[in-house]
Amino acid sequence: MKPRPGWFSKTTVDGRTTMLTEPFVTDYCRANMWLVRGRDHDLLVDTGMGICPLAPEIETTPGKPLLAVATHVHLDHVGSLHEFSWRAGPRIEAEAFATMPDAATYAYMFRDLPGAVSELPYPGWKSMDYAIEPAPLHRLLDEGDVIDLGDRAFHVLHLPGHSPGSIGLFDGQDGTLFSGDAIHGGVLIDDMPDSDRIPYCATMRRLLKLPVRVTHGGHADSIDGPRMREIAEDYLRRNEG
Ligand SMILES: [Zn+2]
Repeated sequence: MKPRPGWFSKTTVDGRTTMLTEPFVTDYCRANMWLVRGRDHDLLVDTGMGICPLAPEIETTPGKPLLAVATHVHLDHVGSLHEFSWRAGPRIEAEAFATMPDAATYAYMFRDLPGAVSELPYPGWKSMDYAIEPAPLHRLLDEGDVIDLGDRAFHVLHLPGHSPGSIGLFDGQDGTLFSGDAIHGGVLIDDMPDSDRIPYCATMRRLLKLPVRVTHGGHADSIDGPRMREIAEDYLRRNEG
């Protein structure tokens, strides 16, 4: 079935970065996806809901592989991961990627959500039929790993709290952080069954020490370093007693 044109929006961030999102998905589940062009291979950070095929939207260069990385296993970050032939994600959540159980992805929340989408992706679509395809990982990411695109490198940071395995990707050369749901300009979620505020506080203390220039998060608009630190400090004030 042909999906609705414009299901994905694309915004050019800079010469080598494009942001994609799904404007008709309810804002709670509307996540950002980041396409980063590299010399030796490209990188896709997170893959949206998987309601419409994402892979055809991602231009690739013949002979240049694309690594699709999910920052964590929640539904709005892994829906289209299975469409990509080279997949990476946090080792701590790897088992869930292989089967995508509801208990780990929270797909059931979207199924039961009134107004899940503001426009139908295609005629007859129903949120109650929503399901996520398994996407076993080819590369398991740990704290300290490096994703090297040839002309720039991203360090894997383990940023637990929102979920136990949440990771961020940090380019220390230019201060760019892809942060997933660990920190962003929207409402930070720390009350899911797999969230934990104690490691979340440690994550915020760590982010405060990181020389971040810009944060491209899983939700909301990108934020600069000072704003990110403000959000981290605010979180610590509210949660560290
Ligand atoms: Zn999440």
